[in-house]
Amino acid sequence: MKAILFHEHGGPEVLTYADLATPEPGPGEVLVKLEAAALNRLDLWVREGWPGIKLEYPHIPGADGAGTVAAIGEGVSEWTPGDRVVINANLSCGACEFCIAGQDNRCLHWHLLGETVPGTYAEYVVVPAGNLLALPQGFDARAAAAAGLVFHTAWHSLITRGELRPGESILIVGASGGVNTASIQIAKLAGASVYVVGSSAEKLKLAESLGADHLIDRSKEENWAKTVYHMTAKHGVDVVVDNVGTTFPLSMRAARKGGRILTVGNTGGAKFEIDNRFVFGKHLSILGSTMGARTDFATVMGLVFQGALQPVMDKTFPLAEAAAAQQRLVDGEQMGKITLAIS
Ligand code: ZN
Repeated sequence: MKAILFHEHGGPEVLTYADLATPEPGPGEVLVKLEAAALNRLDLWVREGWPGIKLEYPHIPGADGAGTVAAIGEGVSEWTPGDRVVINANLSCGACEFCIAGQDNRCLHWHLLGETVPGTYAEYVVVPAGNLLALPQGFDARAAAAAGLVFHTAWHSLITRGELRPGESILIVGASGGVNTASIQIAKLAGASVYVVGSSAEKLKLAESLGADHLIDRSKEENWAKTVYHMTAKHGVDVVVDNVGTTFPLSMRAARKGGRILTVGNTGGAKFEIDNRFVFGKHLSILGSTMGARTDFATVMGLVFQGALQPVMDKTFPLAEAAAAQQRLVDGEQMGKITLAIS
């Protein structure tokens, strides 16, 4: 099969388009012939590497994908070759205390497709049978792949972990990224009043088109926490979604007393200072999570399939041009999800 792979960490230039043996599904596994993959920031971090990361080379990146079941392993009864499917990238053991409790994204032996196991930048990928969800007839594989990781992550963070309720106010720090555009839509669907702080008028226009009620342009309002404070009659918002990290000091100011700060990542950097007086003085809860559980995936993808939630689609590149696709993500030129078309 054709695949994008790398033998060492580095920039987009380490990615090569090459031939590799097509994997075979083991017991309980399914071989999926991919029609589409989607890019995530994670792909860049894995390619660049971090201290302690251990990969088996050559490594194939990519967590998101959708396609058709090509073959099934021993003991798989729920899928038949020809079924169209979307992949849940969370790989769990199914046996530990967290998996048994339905919290498989906290699995003690948790892995993510494309992070430490071969991913979806390829013509074929092998995944456990339980990591697939059927695509409705005619549903675009690119849209399914684009929705997968970001809607799953945002749903788990806002709904399962953050317990967002109708009538609550929520501030989303960032207007155009995959998780943020998913969060805006999920928050609206949940009946919340949505505030978005974005870096440009263009990005805020996108947020508005997704249903954001209140827009704050941080290129004009540097102290956006103060703006939020005044917009909410000096109460602050019930919930802040902060996946930037370095903006925590402002997010903690923008939250009301007893507010929750939700985080699934740190696009601005992993380490930053916070003033602990805000945490105890304002009775704040900081709720972190990673990806989502299987039940979250089924629920949120069901809403995507109905059209209630829609991934924002950026450009599509052929699989062979994955390096150029990643460069677009590095440059921050995208509005929504960059996808790969795989034939
Ligand atoms: Zn487990």
